[in-house]
Amino acid sequence: MTSRSLQSKVLYIMNRRQTIPAHLRYTISDFNRQFPTDDACLEHLKEQRFSGGLVFCETCQGDRKLHRVKGRPVYACDECLTQFSPMAGTIFEHSSTSLRLWYYAMYLMASTRCGISAKQIQRETGVTYKTAWRMFRQIRSLLSETDMQLEGSAVEIDETYVGGKRKNKHGQRGMRGRDNDEKTPVFGMVERGGRVRVMAFVTPDVKAATLYPIIEEKVLPSSIVYSDEYSVYDRLATPANGYDHRRIKHAQKIYVMGDVHTQTIEGFWSLVKRGIGGVYHSVSRKYLQTYLNEYSFRYNRRDQGNLIFNAILKRVSERADLPLVSKDAGIPVVQ
Ligand SMILES: [Zn+2]
Repeated sequence: MTSRSLQSKVLYIMNRRQTIPAHLRYTISDFNRQFPTDDACLEHLKEQRFSGGLVFCETCQGDRKLHRVKGRPVYACDECLTQFSPMAGTIFEHSSTSLRLWYYAMYLMASTRCGISAKQIQRETGVTYKTAWRMFRQIRSLLSETDMQLEGSAVEIDETYVGGKRKNKHGQRGMRGRDNDEKTPVFGMVERGGRVRVMAFVTPDVKAATLYPIIEEKVLPSSIVYSDEYSVYDRLATPANGYDHRRIKHAQKIYVMGDVHTQTIEGFWSLVKRGIGGVYHSVSRKYLQTYLNEYSFRYNRRDQGNLIFNAILKRVSERADLPLVSKDAGIPVVQ
């Protein structure tokens, strides 16, 4: 790499950290303009869930338009007045927190690189810590991408430990898979040569029997797989597994040899660890996967600025349980 291209790369990375390009920016003023009230949020949710403002009404058997029912967060079929609740089946359904606050929490989550703490939203909005924490937990629950496949021509794989007191694995050779009880093992894969997307999983351990099925499921047989020299990866290139496997010798203090490196996944680990250490302070094993989902979700959309907010809003509808008929459905409301 020439020094000029290296310099432009460094500048690009620095700028990316500091500013979001104008067309990918969604400011707090934009948020306040688009979502001034609970009603505006409900109307948005309705549009997301009933595309084109139409819904198939089971009661009168047809595609119907909906109108808002006064004084209640529901809509009714124009023909037979059967009620439809846009919140039914969503993370908002049984919540007493205002819809606008939910939207604001999602906006905050979309607008940070390192995560947002429940404490911060507690301070800003006055909800209790418990409420704020639960909201974030619910939002995170929407962000998993377990169906995703890695399609890049190359994939970096790496395992790490999160939480606890042990220092990072370098310099702790021979300890992997053992003596790490305080820390939670995490396995990650990131594709290169394509869209550069990451997947990360909390695993019970870092043994071959645990990691290989994950690799097999997510990584194309034609991908080149890059890892460090940890012995569990020894069998990746055997005929049974059949990957084109290249390794970097971290023990010899070699970290990059041309394309052979695991810097991308290690960059992701440091983002997660900085975030969890700095913003969340600590995360229990039980919830670590949901934090990994949050970080992966943002990482995989980092070229979308904080329009990631739209992607999170979309997930609310995509992950809602069907059918959409509310508890009161079938009871016509006379207006
Ligand atoms: Zn109807």
